[in-house]
Amino acid sequence: MKIIAGNWKMNGTRTTLSEMVSALQSVESENTVVLCVPYTMLGIDGGRISLGAQDVSRHTHGAFTGEVSASMIADTGAKYVIVGHSERRQYHNETNSIVREKAAAALANGLIPIICVGETMDEKQAGKTMAVIESGVRESVPNDVNTDIIIAYEPRWAIGAGLTPTEAEIAEAHTLIAKTLAEMGLGGTPVLYGASVKGSNAAEIMSIPNVDGVLVGGASLKPDDFIPIITSVK
Ligand code: PEP
Repeated sequence: MKIIAGNWKMNGTRTTLSEMVSALQSVESENTVVLCVPYTMLGIDGGRISLGAQDVSRHTHGAFTGEVSASMIADTGAKYVIVGHSERRQYHNETNSIVREKAAAALANGLIPIICVGETMDEKQAGKTMAVIESGVRESVPNDVNTDIIIAYEPRWAIGAGLTPTEAEIAEAHTLIAKTLAEMGLGGTPVLYGASVKGSNAAEIMSIPNVDGVLVGGASLKPDDFIPIITSVK
């Protein structure tokens, strides 16, 4: 069983989400299906899809105009929240330490954080990929985790670019993440791969050791693109 998570980013409407829910109702798969959607779409009945948010405030409540707290997200019935997505790190200057605070806020409210780590093209070219991944995991995961978390390895240079690392690169990254998590006492934590996943490459990617599922951006927006990913593996 794999975890197939979608990230709608700033796309979609409540109507298109309802259409996705209906389309997935008849899909036979034992995989866990998650869709992380804009806040405005939370609260609808996701059917066999578990819903999640794409970001969360690190604050609990109060004078933080425009922010949404973990308890508010949980109040909608959502179960997941992405933290530290590369677009948050890039456009909102989120560091590992901010990501850790957000993950802790999610955990404190019963949400499962999907904690994203990954290297930029500059870091890749400088030979820093493994160091960035390891510090991303060590510094973005809260200290006192005793419940479910998910890690997503997303090479930042490949997101939305139609590019994917080689199978060997994905395997090396996921092996390092699994080893790092084990050293942190978090062995068995699911690790997703994300960046340019589509129906035609999903099965191959999910056959790589230590890849427990995928985080899908563009190809999660339409049933015709998302369903083949969900059904590509048992
Ligand atoms: C993402 O934004 O998390 C992502 C993986 O995007 P895409 O699949 O479009 O590369």
